[in-house]
Amino acid sequence: MDRYQDKVVIITGGASGLGQAAALQIAKEGGSLVLVDLNKDGLEESKKEILAAAPEVKVELVEANVAKEDEVKQYIQQAIDTFGKIDGFFNNAGIEGKQDLTEDFGIDEFHKVVSINLDGVFFGMKYALKQMKKQGYGSIVNTASVGGIRGVGNQSGYAASKHGVVGLTRNSGVEYGQFGVSIKAIAPGAIMTPMVEGSLKQIGGENWEEAGKEFVSVNPMKRFGKPEEVGYLVAFLLSDQANFINAAVIPIDGGQSYK
Ligand code: NAD
Repeated sequence: MDRYQDKVVIITGGASGLGQAAALQIAKEGGSLVLVDLNKDGLEESKKEILAAAPEVKVELVEANVAKEDEVKQYIQQAIDTFGKIDGFFNNAGIEGKQDLTEDFGIDEFHKVVSINLDGVFFGMKYALKQMKKQGYGSIVNTASVGGIRGVGNQSGYAASKHGVVGLTRNSGVEYGQFGVSIKAIAPGAIMTPMVEGSLKQIGGENWEEAGKEFVSVNPMKRFGKPEEVGYLVAFLLSDQANFINAAVIPIDGGQSYK
């Protein structure tokens, strides 16, 4: 299926995890990509993997910090200068940040998570929407989380940022639907990516895989999601087939958020 023939998609956090998985799926369907991340080596790794699977697509790499407005403005402009348009935007880069009780959060720790997970998504939307409105089409998927639609605990900064992503998605979806642009958020549960592996190692040390089993025992499906499962969802949501899904938040969590 070549849903992405002649299409261009920007992906932040494209050097790892969910961003990398979505990039691979979109490339397999013929899409050209602009991958944005702080991690230069990870970006090169993603590009290698993508070109091995889909040698005909174009992959541009941009080393940028999504929390810095001027860098976001620049990577969006670079995509427009290179490809002349933006069809899809997976606004996904994020960090987990400190895990602790609310009373033990310092404001700097709180702001660090919010500046990447929420300011970063806001800046990305601001500049991508400007272009998409001009084009009269386009699609954005923001990455929220189960922690953006229900309480998980020990995640003040993360929860605030991801609830904020849900709010931005609903607000801008309502604003930009009239211009042919659709905006949605995904709310993943626990998906086995380097981010999750890192936090399991913090909890369980050498026994992190045991800690992982304990972690997913609360999930109705008793397993972690796979990055490629999120990749399939994002490839659908950014495609023309999902244009009428707007201002919506889609869980991908094995049922965790309805438990
Ligand atoms: P990951 O750590 O594997 O990938 C995140 C990527 O974002 C990394 O490559 C990192 O370098 C990049 N990044 C971080 N800060 C950045 C910045 N300031 N500027 C540019 N790039 C930056 O993690 P992941 O699991 O793939 O997470 C992707 C998104 O999914 C995040 O927003 C995360 O909060 C969200 N999420 C993940 C899960 C999960 O279980 N994996 C669940 C819910 C939500």
